[in-house]
Amino acid sequence: MTIPSVKLNDGHQIPQLGYGVFKVPPADTERAVSEALEVGYRHIDTAAIYGNEEGVGAAIAASGIPRDDLYITTKLWNDRHDGEEPHAAIRESLEKLGLPQVDLYLVHWPTPAADNYLHAWEKMIEIRDAGLTRSIGVSNHLVPHLEKIVQATGVVPAVDQIELHPAYQQRDVTDWAAAHDVKIEAWGPLGQGKYDLFGAAAVADAASAHGKTPAQVVLRWHIQHGFIVFPKSVRRERLEENLDVFDFELTAAEVAAIDEMDTGDGSGRVSAHPDEVD
Ligand code: NAD
Repeated sequence: MTIPSVKLNDGHQIPQLGYGVFKVPPADTERAVSEALEVGYRHIDTAAIYGNEEGVGAAIAASGIPRDDLYITTKLWNDRHDGEEPHAAIRESLEKLGLPQVDLYLVHWPTPAADNYLHAWEKMIEIRDAGLTRSIGVSNHLVPHLEKIVQATGVVPAVDQIELHPAYQQRDVTDWAAAHDVKIEAWGPLGQGKYDLFGAAAVADAASAHGKTPAQVVLRWHIQHGFIVFPKSVRRERLEENLDVFDFELTAAEVAAIDEMDTGDGSGRVSAHPDEVD
């Protein structure tokens, strides 16, 4: 199984499909990540706020997989944007992960009410320059947030990790990202199971046409759009299912039919709006 890579604007490569560990309980994380690595995942997406970086680190250490074959992302939490806190936060994350460097470090939310995300971005640049992460990016940043940090620093994030799935496609952000060579990481790629993506005719019809499951069709739709995904499951059969999306191709008409599932009014969003998170 070869997972394709995407080239970031800083020249580094990221596996387009990985494993996300949001809501994987800390006590289960080493087992879940070990299983994901066994199944063939090499890209793990965690965050300080998930409380499970130690479990990710334990699974990496136990795996024996060469570090260069793994891609590890973690994120700066919202209460650590100020002063030199981002430097302290990345060092704590690295300690928990048992690594000298991550591949990608993200500002988790812009928290615009606190209005300190530009400062956080300036600190991310220092953190990258200090070699503690290879690439830097943001998460949950909308166009005004992206414009502000890029105009002030001239440094374009490698990625923006946003909620994105067929019912909520955030085309304003994806258009901006395409124009500025920022890769989109789609979180909640399956709608977190809260939105009935799988029952939609566009998904169900493509699934039966290709002999695939609806989840595989939705993940394939992301892949064909060039989005980076890391669906979460703690069940081995689903880990295998979610990785098995590289042996078929949706037709242009099938992709277009799934594109049509965007509600267009934001009502497909299943989680918090970035302006409301502090
Ligand atoms: P997801 O869309 O991946 O949904 C996960 C849920 O979908 C699982 O709990 C499971 O119930 C179901 N599922 C998984 N595989 C399935 C399959 N094959 N068939 C049927 N159902 C299946 O949502 P997520 O976990 O929120 O997002 C993925 C990752 O994105 C997270 O683990 C995390 O790493 C990241 N994330 C980031 C942010 C952020 O603010 N940056 C927020 C949420 C999630």
